[in-house]
Amino acid sequence: MATNFWEEEYNKTPPWEVGHPQSAFVELFSSNELVLGKVLDIGCGTGENAIFLAQNGFSVVGIDLVPSAIEKAKQKAKGLGLEIDFSVGDALHLRFHPDEFDSVIDSGLFHIFDDKRRLAYIDQIAKVLRPEGGYFMLCFSEKEPTDWGGPRRVSKEEIEEVLAPNFEVNFIHDSILESNIHEAGGGLAYISSARRK
Ligand code: SAH
Repeated sequence: MATNFWEEEYNKTPPWEVGHPQSAFVELFSSNELVLGKVLDIGCGTGENAIFLAQNGFSVVGIDLVPSAIEKAKQKAKGLGLEIDFSVGDALHLRFHPDEFDSVIDSGLFHIFDDKRRLAYIDQIAKVLRPEGGYFMLCFSEKEPTDWGGPRRVSKEEIEEVLAPNFEVNFIHDSILESNIHEAGGGLAYISSARRK
């Protein structure tokens, strides 16, 4: 999907803009799956998940392709008195040091990439994560109906296959990706936790 698509989404309220952190990530934090340290929120949008982690003691970096989303994220962080390093960036061309992060969180980015980009994307993440660093990813599952369109639906097997070369998968659990277009509050999703080999 071209940059234009994402920019236009942010000219209105995009479906994923729920005004609070995704509960899947709140739960990962509450269950101590996400350990304190330096975290990259990749495709951070307007920063709700990044802000939640910063409020809970993480050192947070957030990148997104869309300048207006990053601008909103910066304003929110400023209003809350939080120091978060938000900037415009492309997940397929990361400009961080090798092994720079303890964790990477991905709320709704993995499932937008086609098969080829998906591999390139995971390769980028593996490079910036330190060994044993955690990758936490929320994506729509194959159980979510396709009648409303939206991004790809992903199976557990696909996730396992794409992660296998660089990661040890801890778990892939059923979850919900919250949105403002689902009557039930969100769509059927998987939350994955994996460790860099
Ligand atoms: N994580 C946010 C937004 C999810 S929607 C949230 O949970 O609210 C997916 C996000 O990925 C959008 O903000 C979109 O602008 C961004 N995005 C799409 N392609 C990207 C790329 N190549 N690099 C970085 N961000 C990208």
